Amino acid sequence: MREEPAIKNAVAGAIHWPQSCGCRDPRILTRRYAGIFDAEGGHVERGDALGLRKKGFSWALKLMSEQLVKAEHAIVCLGPWSPHLLRQFGYFMGISRHIPTF
Ligand SMILES: Cc1cc2nc3c(=O)[nH]c(=O)nc-3n(C[C@H](O)[C@H](O)[C@H](O)COP(=O)(O)OP(=O)(O)OC[C@H]3O[C@@H](n4cnc5c(N)ncnc54)[C@H](O)[C@@H]3O)c2cc1C
Repeated sequence: MREEPAIKNAVAGAIHWPQSCGCRDPRILTRRYAGIFDAEGGHVERGDALGLRKKGFSWALKLMSEQLVKAEHAIVCLGPWSPHLLRQFGYFMGISRHIPTF
């Protein structure tokens, strides 16, 4: 409680992780990860994920470049925005919402 004076209610316990590390510039970190992804043969493109469509057994998305990409699988990793997209396909995902509302 000395470390977290803002916590007013009684707590059952806490985990102190002394080896945690920080990142001064998350933007550069993300760019470096993208560089590694590229170097390993990956390809980064930009587009609005809300344009994702299911076509038969595959997925399709029009990129900002107007190119249409099709894939057998789509991975949704939009953080707190994920439920909004997933709902269109009938998936309901519980998430604690402390950022934007839709
Ligand atoms: C204020 C704050 C401080 C935090 N501090 C820490 C911390 O110190 N340490 C820690 O470990 N965690 C911290 N977190 C939590 C951490 O940010 C998240 O756990 C982490 O970012 C989740 O990563 P993610 O890739 O799942 O989602 P996100 O990082 O949320 O990424 C989702 C991405 O999807 C993109 N997106 C959304 N909609 C669309 C769309 N329609 N089309 C295309 N792209 C879209 C967004 O722009 C975003 O880039 C913090 C969170 C907040 C809000």
